[in-house]
Amino acid sequence: MPAETRLFRCLSDNYGVLLHDSESGATAAIDAPEAAPVEAALKAAGWRLTDILVTHHHADHTGGIAALKSKYKCRVVAPEKEAAKIPAVDEIVREGDKVLLGKLTANVIETPGHTLGHIVYWIHAEKLVFVGDTLFSIGCGRVIEGTPEMMWDSLKKLRDLPNDTEIYCGHEYTAANIKFARTIEPDNPVLAAREAEAKREIERGLPTIPVSIGDEKLANPFLRADHPEVAAGIGMAGKPAVEVFAEIRARKNKF
Ligand SMILES: [Zn+2]
Repeated sequence: MPAETRLFRCLSDNYGVLLHDSESGATAAIDAPEAAPVEAALKAAGWRLTDILVTHHHADHTGGIAALKSKYKCRVVAPEKEAAKIPAVDEIVREGDKVLLGKLTANVIETPGHTLGHIVYWIHAEKLVFVGDTLFSIGCGRVIEGTPEMMWDSLKKLRDLPNDTEIYCGHEYTAANIKFARTIEPDNPVLAAREAEAKREIERGLPTIPVSIGDEKLANPFLRADHPEVAAGIGMAGKPAVEVFAEIRARKNKF
């Protein structure tokens, strides 16, 4: 397992993460909300930045790119469909592309919905996926540019990854997400356990991520829109999954 990660907070509730290949020394920042916390994490780990892998164009994921690029001369990899909105891009990628970070290979998966060009980086051999603002612990991103159909399809792609894949997402939203999820599935025992676990972590000042695909499948209502009990629970028994998903997302927007 040559991959190492460092997770750290940025801005108000963003996460930054470094991915390091211990064999080659290559180190990527997954998104760059702001430069200073990325540099602090690099310094603490004794790593040098070689790459920035961007998930989508929002300012709270790209604000640190220009400063980091000018200091480290690192490669900036970004989604093809949003490259024009992202500073200092060196390489554009699309569905099915592979990004090499030393000995590590990241597969690019397009997950439109939150934004139209959003991508995630999946490192199969290391059981890691960096999902930006598509999927959160017990939640999902707002459907800002795309449609509920797009977002539901994107979430199903992520749900199909192996259960033991560790998810690194762009924000610490877990407590609020669980509070909402309990209104959708009040009797889900796995969700109740996740609530207790997150409470313990937050009280100790720990991050609530990463979380696994397998655990999310059992408790994240946005990945469960095609479960009959979820549809029935919100008065939509027999409705298509995408409509159930859209209703859950609409309720969360107003929560
Ligand atoms: Zn975003």
